[in-house]
Amino acid sequence: MKRIYFDYAATTPVLPEVVDSMNPYFTSEYGNASSFHEFGFRARKAIEDSREIVSKFLDTNPESIVFTSGGTESDNLAIFGTFLKNRDKNPHFITTSIEHPAVLNSCQFVEELGADVTYLPVSTEGLVDPLAVEAAITDQTVLISIMYANNEIGTVQPVKEIGQIATSHDIPFHTDAVQAMSSISIDVHANCINLLSASGHKLYAPKGVGIFFIQDSSTILPIMHGGPHEHGIRPSTENVPGIVGLATAIEIISSDMDREATRETELRDYIIDHVLAEIEGSSLNGSRTERLPGNMNFSFEGILGYDLVLVLDREGIAVSTGSACHSTSQKPSQVLHALGVCDALALGTIRASIGRQTTQEEADYFLEKLQDAIKELRAT
Ligand code: PLP
Repeated sequence: MKRIYFDYAATTPVLPEVVDSMNPYFTSEYGNASSFHEFGFRARKAIEDSREIVSKFLDTNPESIVFTSGGTESDNLAIFGTFLKNRDKNPHFITTSIEHPAVLNSCQFVEELGADVTYLPVSTEGLVDPLAVEAAITDQTVLISIMYANNEIGTVQPVKEIGQIATSHDIPFHTDAVQAMSSISIDVHANCINLLSASGHKLYAPKGVGIFFIQDSSTILPIMHGGPHEHGIRPSTENVPGIVGLATAIEIISSDMDREATRETELRDYIIDHVLAEIEGSSLNGSRTERLPGNMNFSFEGILGYDLVLVLDREGIAVSTGSACHSTSQKPSQVLHALGVCDALALGTIRASIGRQTTQEEADYFLEKLQDAIKELRAT
């Protein structure tokens, strides 16, 4: 049976060139980057070369790049690390109601420890109003954390405007760019970003490796304690193959990012147009224009998204009901709730996300099987 992967927002395949670049660091160049011999020196060089590549991609200096285990750890470093630094000052955080659990649950945790958190609402398209960000700032605000792009509905936030507001009030701005970094060129300084999280497995590198950009390391305290690795911010022996793979993936995606983003956007719009025109009772969630190239999020009247995922899976097509962390939940998505989507429609929702390997033929197959699946489910 043909198998079609329309779940790039959950995780991406690792590119063959990425695997090739990693292989020597498992088999022959397996040194510990802290060791004082040739094996160690080579591992250290591989890490520092990778840091250079990542820093160029974000238009910053290598000293501000910290390698972590993934997006979750980077988000925790930003929020919990900022809390630890300011714990005696009655700290206040600003975030949104549609953040990934890595941010939302970190915010809830610091609230339990005594911080105040403002969870800003979003528009029906999932956009945050920069003026609302400014209005929420108090004398105690220590961090503004707003995601670059949402993992369920793909909405891209007005990051630059928010960053400028944060800077004008001298407040660090953190953005979770885990979903955005595979298709959007991010210049951290031009966007006034002080802290940024990204993850290897969302950009064609392996799982278990991430990026934490920190402009000024004195804005946080470490959340783990151990050796002096990663500028003293993130202890633990470095994941050399993962870090090398992450840098290789970044080199590849940055070489044709604009062209690939245009291709995915066209394919995405082709699918969206056909779904909305041909499937009665269908609607698109999130902004039509301020949207990640690969993201689609549809609601269908009279069906359950969970059943639709199963029927499509039977046909070899992988989609999800929402984010991968909630894909088995039959509760309406919190993100759709924040957009004002009613529960019945929210339960009839799927996220389909495409990427570098998606073809026109796959898009047509998806459209055909989606129509059949919805007919079948509505008839039962
Ligand atoms: N933030 C966002 C927006 C995500 O989509 C994800 C993963 O789905 C994460 C954070 C967590 O990243 P990781 O799986 O690397 O911990």
